[in-house]
Amino acid sequence: MTAYNVTLIPGDGVGPEVTQATRRVLEAVGPSFNWEVVDIGGKALERYGTPLPDEVLKSIQKNKVALKGPVTTPVGSGFRSVNVALRQNLGLYACLRPCKTYPGVPSPYKDIDLVIIRENLEDLYCGIEFKVEADDTSRLIQLVKDTKGEKIRDDSAISLKVISRERSAKIARFAFEYALRNQRKKVTAVHKANILKFSDGLFLDTARKIAKDYPEIEFEDRIVDNLAMQLVKKPEEYDVLVAPNLYGDILSDLGAGLVGGLGVTPGANLSDEIAIFEPVHGSAPKYARQNKANPIAMILSGTMMLHHLGEKEDASRLEKAVAGVISEGKTLTYDMKPGAPSSQIATTSEVADAIIEKL
Ligand code: NAD
Repeated sequence: MTAYNVTLIPGDGVGPEVTQATRRVLEAVGPSFNWEVVDIGGKALERYGTPLPDEVLKSIQKNKVALKGPVTTPVGSGFRSVNVALRQNLGLYACLRPCKTYPGVPSPYKDIDLVIIRENLEDLYCGIEFKVEADDTSRLIQLVKDTKGEKIRDDSAISLKVISRERSAKIARFAFEYALRNQRKKVTAVHKANILKFSDGLFLDTARKIAKDYPEIEFEDRIVDNLAMQLVKKPEEYDVLVAPNLYGDILSDLGAGLVGGLGVTPGANLSDEIAIFEPVHGSAPKYARQNKANPIAMILSGTMMLHHLGEKEDASRLEKAVAGVISEGKTLTYDMKPGAPSSQIATTSEVADAIIEKL
């Protein structure tokens, strides 16, 4: 039997706990793994003087597949997001976030089966920012005045929203190919092209052109604020959503809320060669080292990884085991049992044990 070489990034906060639970579950499913364990973020900064050591990038480039726990990004100051840097450095242009309701999750909705595909490399996340009252900011303000005749206040900070034709085409094509491969019927492009006529306008225009290559898949578009409302009112009308980076980020948390919360929503960051699987949720620092966080989002990210590796039967066996534990409702973490007494709340490792037992 082949063993898969996988880079394993435990992350920080609740990351190491949910990663350990996921590793145990994946090892119980069937395939063998050679885990190459590496650190990024604050832990790597302490040890190697950089939050994203070269060895980590090399390991992922070599193995082509990684499983990653969440990593904290300091707010306002400190190092920039290592999550964004990883995606940028490895060209992981697509972020795939399925939002599916499993019977038994704490949600007023049933039968949601949405996929959010987020462009991962540009938009406001390309990290080109101009600090308030810095020299380069004043020069940019002057340039805007000279070229556009628009006055930007001198006490402004500026972040660039960059949308390119090529990356818009790439993510739109990814969405349609995903829809085809996964028997999906409709792709909805998300934008704010009524206001951002050039940037989001280009995204929408490009998506419309790519849609013509896929006549078998229905195509429509929605303005992001309207879509946010519609997802709450009638989520069953949506199938595959494709969005620029920021809207995709926000909508995936909205999607998580529809299907039971961040504790159950998995994700993947993909290029044509490399895949990093990670939950949508962050490092939830206030729950760190308490064996309290829900490992299901990361375990479901593991099922996505099994699919990607071609282990389809094991992936669906694992998904069924997770669904079984959720529907039984006995061994679930605090977020899945609102209002339950603490004696009925399971720990992270107990949830993993219950899934292993089901397997
Ligand atoms: P978060 O997702 O960490 O937590 C928000 C809330 O969701 C938590 O307080 C908790 O109530 C709940 N939650 C999240 N994960 C859970 C789990 N597994 N089980 C149960 N409840 C869970 O979001 P945040 O507080 O905005 O971010 C915390 C840190 O994580 C920040 O530094 C942020 O930058 C980082 N972050 C990292 C990633 C990543 O590594 N991909 C993604 C998002 C946020």
